[in-house]
Amino acid sequence: MIHVSDKAMFHIHTARCKHATGTDREYIEKAISLGADEIWFTDHAPYPGDRIGTRMLFSEREEYVSTMNALRKEYAGDITLKLGMEMEYFPSYEEYIRETRNSGIFDLLILGQHYYEREDGTIYFAKKNEENSDERYGLSEGMIRGIKTGLFDVVAHPDRIFRNCREWTEDMAAISQKIIDAAKGTDIYLEKNYASSLKRDHYWDEFWRMVPPEVKTLKGLDAHSVDSLRFLDFDYTPVH
Ligand SMILES: [Zn+2]
Ligand SMILES: [Zn+2]
Repeated sequence: MIHVSDKAMFHIHTARCKHATGTDREYIEKAISLGADEIWFTDHAPYPGDRIGTRMLFSEREEYVSTMNALRKEYAGDITLKLGMEMEYFPSYEEYIRETRNSGIFDLLILGQHYYEREDGTIYFAKKNEENSDERYGLSEGMIRGIKTGLFDVVAHPDRIFRNCREWTEDMAAISQKIIDAAKGTDIYLEKNYASSLKRDHYWDEFWRMVPPEVKTLKGLDAHSVDSLRFLDFDYTPVH
């Protein structure tokens, strides 16, 4: 089980994923200047074969690790650097996820279910602004199976699967309950995601009100730019 400090910058991406900006060093130095004692890099993981765009390439993974390990040493007197990756759960890649987990290279794995694998092995890329209940089921089923593997430490933005929904429904509550039930009795954290709170319908108070105290939660930045680093000591106001 991971422990994240109260003064941590948690869930930070790097430019390797091709949709974040800034250098690794800029993130670290900004975090130090804000008074953070930990910085948790969790860039989007590549998968063998590079089927998913807007990710680092599989061939870049080694560089990610070696660069971060060097930076960890260099900045050790100023800040603790933790290294992880954010990954979807895809059944065909479960062995890869397990190897990643057991490699000892990473301090944590975040389950970030942006896409899901269909039964025929193809990967579904959720479309923006398209109401589609299959998408919610597919994403939630992938997320729940991922939680049950025990290979992940944190579920990023579980409520983001409702980003194409416009108002809270019983169907959404039922899906939410299944996710929360999967997390019950485990050490996994559900992440209240700061980046989600800034986007329309990405963050749902209704979801968080259903989470009982025995299920662990934490707050994450999901930073894709150096400017977005900040301490998260307030409650988010959803944008609908
Ligand atoms: Zn991203
Ligand atoms: Zn993220």
